[in-house]
Amino acid sequence: MSAQLLQKRIAVFGSTGSIGTQALDVIADHPDKFSPEILTAQNNDELLIQQAIRFNPNIVVIGNENKYAKVKEALSTTDIKVFAGEKALEEVAAMNCYDVMLAAIVGFAGLKPTIQAIENGKVIALANKETLVVAGDIIMQKALEKRIPIIPVDSEHSAIFQCLVGEQRSSVEKIILTASGGPFLGKKPNFLENVKKEHALQHPNWSMGSKITIDSATLMNKGLEMIEAKHLFALKANQIQVVIHPQSIIHSMVQFKDGSIKAQMGLPDMKLPIQYSLAFPQRIANNFPRFDFKRMNTLSFDEPDIRTFRNLALATTALEKGGNLPCVLNAANEIAVFAFLRNRIGFLEMTNMIEKAMDKIPFIETPTLNELFESDGEARNFVANSIKL
Ligand code: NDP
Ligand code: MG
Repeated sequence: MSAQLLQKRIAVFGSTGSIGTQALDVIADHPDKFSPEILTAQNNDELLIQQAIRFNPNIVVIGNENKYAKVKEALSTTDIKVFAGEKALEEVAAMNCYDVMLAAIVGFAGLKPTIQAIENGKVIALANKETLVVAGDIIMQKALEKRIPIIPVDSEHSAIFQCLVGEQRSSVEKIILTASGGPFLGKKPNFLENVKKEHALQHPNWSMGSKITIDSATLMNKGLEMIEAKHLFALKANQIQVVIHPQSIIHSMVQFKDGSIKAQMGLPDMKLPIQYSLAFPQRIANNFPRFDFKRMNTLSFDEPDIRTFRNLALATTALEKGGNLPCVLNAANEIAVFAFLRNRIGFLEMTNMIEKAMDKIPFIETPTLNELFESDGEARNFVANSIKL
């Protein structure tokens, strides 16, 4: 078979982000295995143009329509097709020129193109955790109907996925999600009250986009990940435990019904789970730095402080109650993080806003997709109006 037939054609949705750029590094290291067919960005036209010239994809999409003319002009001497706007993301996801969608758009905006890709029968390598938080029941049901594998990119879920290879799902007693604890591990509310975005954006172990970095500092990231895990691995709320592990070497664990625990370990580097998701079911050799037990001889574990980091308690409520509550939690959080990043509200106010939105927006036990879109809009408006954004 020719190399080209063995290549997987990858659609990188969110190619200019932290996950997207690392995915393109992985793809560039393995041109015999992967070819990037679709690249998308929202605002970063310069980087999208550079990526397009370097990788020569079939299609690029720029979300912000005001940037279309510039991207089109810059690529006018190539065969690359250029589209713009939110709708174009869905239209392109419905095309047949790719095999795997790497869903690496941040936030709720990633949901519609991912649904379109599932309906289109494409494999999903899922980085965008908000998709499953908002509409996990609907997404997993659609994927089941279409027999589409959803392969997690999030490092904790990739770890659990890897621990489950060769195991029966019915053998799982619980999963243990590890959390670094973020930059404010051990701090108390009187300290957090005065935290500014410059502090919150300094993650000790991972370099990521700004939204997820703030989510890591507030522990909302771990809350979203509990809900993501529930859907990906068909778990009950009481089968999901969070443990603080500041070194981020154990990426997560599965405990089986005989008491045996499997852990997946490695240095904290997102390229590894990205590569795993694209190459699955194969493993590909690489020269990423290796973990050395002699250089780090202590791995430690602790309980999360949910009294201080109340987002984790709010996310647990959303996880247990389900319905539209995780969608409301996510939408309120997106607006709260947006406001914090613009110095409009304080660190602890983010949690207060989310809690109020969860109280305010009417609960729906089994929401349709349209009802979820409505709940998302209501929660966003509620928080934006409360802050007077
Ligand atoms: P970034 O903010 O770095 O990148 C986001 C990407 O999405 C960019 O390409 C951005 O385009 C694009 N984008 C932003 N807003 C929109 C929109 N409204 N419509 C379409 N595209 C949009 O995020 P990350 O790469 O850090 O995270 C991506 C997703 O992966 C998130 O859901 C995150 O939770 C998840 N994740 C990330 C990890 C990480 O290490 N970074 C780890 C685990 C999960 P532009 O650059 O033009 O703004
Ligand atoms: Mg993670």
